[in-house]
Amino acid sequence: MNIGFIGIGTMGKPMALNILRAGYALTVNDVSEQAVQELVQQGAQKAKSPCECARQSDIVITMLPNNAIVGAVLQGENGIFAGAKPGTCLIDMSSVSPGFTQKMAKCAKEKGLGYIDAPVSGGVKGATEGTLTIMVGGEQEDIAKVRPVLEVLGKKIHHVGSVSSGDAVKLVNNLLLGINMAAVAEAFTLGTKLGIKPQTLFDIISASSGNSYALSSKIPNFVFKNKFAPGFAIDLQYKDLELAVQTAKESKVPMMLTNVAQQIFEQARAKGLGKEDISAVIKPMEELLGIEVRN
Ligand code: NAD
Repeated sequence: MNIGFIGIGTMGKPMALNILRAGYALTVNDVSEQAVQELVQQGAQKAKSPCECARQSDIVITMLPNNAIVGAVLQGENGIFAGAKPGTCLIDMSSVSPGFTQKMAKCAKEKGLGYIDAPVSGGVKGATEGTLTIMVGGEQEDIAKVRPVLEVLGKKIHHVGSVSSGDAVKLVNNLLLGINMAAVAEAFTLGTKLGIKPQTLFDIISASSGNSYALSSKIPNFVFKNKFAPGFAIDLQYKDLELAVQTAKESKVPMMLTNVAQQIFEQARAKGLGKEDISAVIKPMEELLGIEVRN
């Protein structure tokens, strides 16, 4: 079984390495030559384009930043659709919108290709350890074909329903992450301004009803260490909040907190923090008050 992997960035690289270690033949493509070479050194083949990658593969996985890039990689002149043989199964593991996935799945079907949305949660740690949670949308028959590969990447594989339903769960999860992260930043800034040691705030609240993943993971591993390399970049979190806001608009669902959280991340982007981890959303709040939440 030949696997193609396109988008070997923060998440894609450790995922692709796990596929190689599981013994699959792997062909990779990325616009970053450095990213490709790192995988080639571990035994992967290089494809010059998504088209070439798809031509050589039975299953093609994409792990790319957003709708526009996934669309270009699928539909571009040298894209996946131009190279994939009928019967090939495409798995998009990027976080994209359900409406976009439905359109891509329709095009894939017309070309005799299987299409599955399988976004993930669990961060770089989960990608590295092969313990991701994977939210899968698609037809049972396609999912049965690719399940052994998904099992290399994740420990909790949920077949949610028809194509795009994995994306729907993912955007709901990630709007919560965005709101929680913004709330944790605001709360820790206030607590520090009130003269409480950040470590004391962490010790008490991480064992209390105010706890969350954003608090228990991001405060000690990023904020306290003053290390803000992603992780999960602010630009990607902003994009996920946009997916939620746009999708909600299409369904006439008001999203009060999600819109406010998105503006808080917009403020961080305006400060030039888009490439930093989502925990860096605390920096403009600290700057405003002239304090730092460090230990
Ligand atoms: P990333 O920016 O680190 O990686 C994206 C990769 O895609 C890069 O290597 C980039 O060079 C490549 N790329 C961009 N355009 C390309 C193109 N046209 N052709 C080929 N390759 C191209 O992003 P990431 O953090 O790995 O996230 C990828 C996806 O997974 C996003 O949709 C993100 O929202 C989602 N996600 C990220 C995390 C996380 O913790 N980082 C967790 C869960 C889900």
